[in-house]
Amino acid sequence: MNGASGPQSAVPVPVVTEDNAFWFAAAREGRLVIQRCVPCGELRHPPAPTCALCRSFDWDCVEACGRGTLHSYAIAYYPKDPAFDYPLVIGLAELAEGVRIVADMPGADPSRIAIGLPVEVVFAPHYRGELLPTLREVRS
Ligand SMILES: [Zn+2]
Repeated sequence: MNGASGPQSAVPVPVVTEDNAFWFAAAREGRLVIQRCVPCGELRHPPAPTCALCRSFDWDCVEACGRGTLHSYAIAYYPKDPAFDYPLVIGLAELAEGVRIVADMPGADPSRIAIGLPVEVVFAPHYRGELLPTLREVRS
């Protein structure tokens, strides 16, 4: 304990490396970016140093539109961590650009969650204050 009162979160602090620093810098600005291979144009997420298709180290990034569909999900009830509200819906969204991203869906009603659900990325402060993507159902 660090002298703080209350339960401590077991959620790990995001590990920022040379390979993903650009992604966290964009997230701090509330922007979702996707890494793109310059020679072949392949998009990849999470960030990686080389392209899985052509092995190039040359990359840039594109701004994601932030929309997609729920490809899969999990609903956690236990063990409870003070970083989240429960039940905790964790979504795997396939973005319109074709890459997938994992994020929690705070406030989501588990009875409404289904594969194929239209979702959008919304940046929200996480437990320790980091601005990170979350997923929210898009209601038409
Ligand atoms: Zn490539």
